[in-house]
Amino acid sequence: MQLCAECGDVRLRWTKVPILLRILEVISLGWLKIGKLHFERLTIGDYFSALHAIFALFQNTGPLRLRGPYPKSTFMKRPILIHPDPRLKKQCAVVPDLSDDLRQLADDMLETMYDAPGIGLAAPQVGVLDRLIVLDCAKEKDETPRPLIMFNPKVIETSDEKNTYEEGCLSIPEQFAEIERPADVTVEWVDRDGNVQRETFADLWATCVQHEIDHLEGTLFIDYLKPMKRQMITRKMQKLKRERTRA
Ligand SMILES: [Zn+2]
Repeated sequence: MQLCAECGDVRLRWTKVPILLRILEVISLGWLKIGKLHFERLTIGDYFSALHAIFALFQNTGPLRLRGPYPKSTFMKRPILIHPDPRLKKQCAVVPDLSDDLRQLADDMLETMYDAPGIGLAAPQVGVLDRLIVLDCAKEKDETPRPLIMFNPKVIETSDEKNTYEEGCLSIPEQFAEIERPADVTVEWVDRDGNVQRETFADLWATCVQHEIDHLEGTLFIDYLKPMKRQMITRKMQKLKRERTRA
């Protein structure tokens, strides 16, 4: 999952933004840069989102589109694949035995994830079709980091209660959407030392671990969206990839 590179937050709702700023952002169609809020000029393809933003303004709901500086110039330990890519739609293979190579891959993935910055990363996102994810949702400044490496993670129980978070993905940069998932999940996995672990996760941890396990099945968070919205995001990513190739 992806954090906003500017504010480090994963969700910021219109309701938390002063009304005047919301109006200015909509009128300027993204030309604004005020304080920590970082906007970019909208492209033609963004006009659907602008319409959504205006609609959201009257509804007083919906996401504020936050963008970080892009493209990021820092070197990545393992380059992250950008959607659409066939490797992101594949089911990943169970890891039969741990090896030094796999441990190295997990360590590299954590480094790549922190660098992005993100709170979760799955092996297919770096082009490896093995059941391996890494995550660390301790993102508050005073929180101790808690990097987790999970081989063969499996959701074994989910709560009936649901939770909605605004999700992003390192393979779908700068795009966010509200996704509803079970609020609590119990996950079993094999850790870096080969020991079986089991834990129940809540809040952002629960959403993140489900998002990452979805990657191992070839499922992206945009697969939960309506086709039109999904296609719009896919077109933006195709454009981004073209721009990156040219750069
Ligand atoms: Zn993702």
